[in-house]
Amino acid sequence: LADEVLAKRKKFLNPALFLYYKKHVNIVEGKMQYLFDETGRRYLDAFAGIVTVSCGHCHPHVVDAVIRQTKLLQHATTIYLHHAIADYAEALAAKMPGNLKVVYFVNSGSEANDMAMLMARVYTGNYDIIALRNAYHGMSAATMGLTAHHTWKHNVPQGFGVYHALLPHPYRGPFGADGKKYADDLTDLIQSSTSGKVAGFFAETIQGVGGSVELAPGYLPAAYDIIRKAGGICISDEVQTGFGRTGSHYWGFETQGVIPDIVTLAKGIGNGLPLAAVVTTPEIASVLAERLHFNTYGGNPVCSAGGRAVLEVLDKEERQKHCAVVGDHLLKRLHALKEKHDIIGDVRGRGLMLGIELVTDRTTKTPATAETLQLFEAFKDLGVLVGKGGLYGNVFRIKPPMCFTLEDADFLVDVMDHSMSKL
Ligand code: PMP
Repeated sequence: LADEVLAKRKKFLNPALFLYYKKHVNIVEGKMQYLFDETGRRYLDAFAGIVTVSCGHCHPHVVDAVIRQTKLLQHATTIYLHHAIADYAEALAAKMPGNLKVVYFVNSGSEANDMAMLMARVYTGNYDIIALRNAYHGMSAATMGLTAHHTWKHNVPQGFGVYHALLPHPYRGPFGADGKKYADDLTDLIQSSTSGKVAGFFAETIQGVGGSVELAPGYLPAAYDIIRKAGGICISDEVQTGFGRTGSHYWGFETQGVIPDIVTLAKGIGNGLPLAAVVTTPEIASVLAERLHFNTYGGNPVCSAGGRAVLEVLDKEERQKHCAVVGDHLLKRLHALKEKHDIIGDVRGRGLMLGIELVTDRTTKTPATAETLQLFEAFKDLGVLVGKGGLYGNVFRIKPPMCFTLEDADFLVDVMDHSMSKL
């Protein structure tokens, strides 16, 4: 069966699609934190379909909500009233602090960031956008320019009016964990390279694809000040960090004590449904009031019902608290693993959004890219799926469904320990 799927994929699907493993896994079923292949073999999923399955694979409450809504009304578009979108927008806005109360639904993180970029430019009347180096904000024509990693850009000129600031990377950055110093560099960038007038600033508080890099403390408050003084608004890309995954807070930006002007959401928001959102203040949202803007599927009844069910599950099952407990346990065990295995250069992140960076030498921090790949396959052979990422492909990303248990965490670390010992 796997061979058949592979043959069809090769023949009929664009080769831009890439596969994670050398020996392919053909997934046929998902149940909470587990995936099952065609032979019935169970895998512990520590990557959640790229940080997307928040409640758990096929969580019954989300599935029920989707089925119920699908039978009632599947599609109407926003040109008619329907209650699913209105109820969901109200529930989502209630989760946001400050004046972030107006929602625009789209279908993917890329679309959400496109929309945020557009709103920043229309609202401020400025053009220049700043994002962080090493960031991933999407693959649409506009967001590919925001994304700051050459391998995702296909050597096509992109990102007109987009500038990339120094990443406040505590492990690899020139100023270590001194967030303030990186913010000074942002001032330099604005003065030296931009028109001096900024439209918007994008940041993930913990870079996802970039390798679970948590921005140096103190960076965002200083950066937001600088951007606002330059006339810009601040956008937090919460596509991976939102909905309590960090454990300590519901939203990633809260970990740095800031409130952005626009928040973009995707992935975990829908537990796998194609759902995303842009949340902003009434004042910023009002700039699109007299303009034509439309999205056929955005906020469709089925995804709205599913998204609302996701919020209910996360609340009812206290997933944020759970992420904190399991995440703390994992961090402790991973730090102990670092003591044992020299190949681990850095353990970082918070909650169930963790990263393990592998190096061949702790002093030079030379990326252990080949070893990362080898271990990655070994984990899979032992029944554990993790993510990989980082600029050099040498970071394991641990971002499981938020129902991941303490026992799952122990199993994951034991598998890592065993594989690293055999390396
Ligand atoms: N922002 C971040 C932080 C992401 O990780 C991603 C996807 N990896 C996106 C935006 C783009 O989301 P999508 O793939 O749904 O367009």
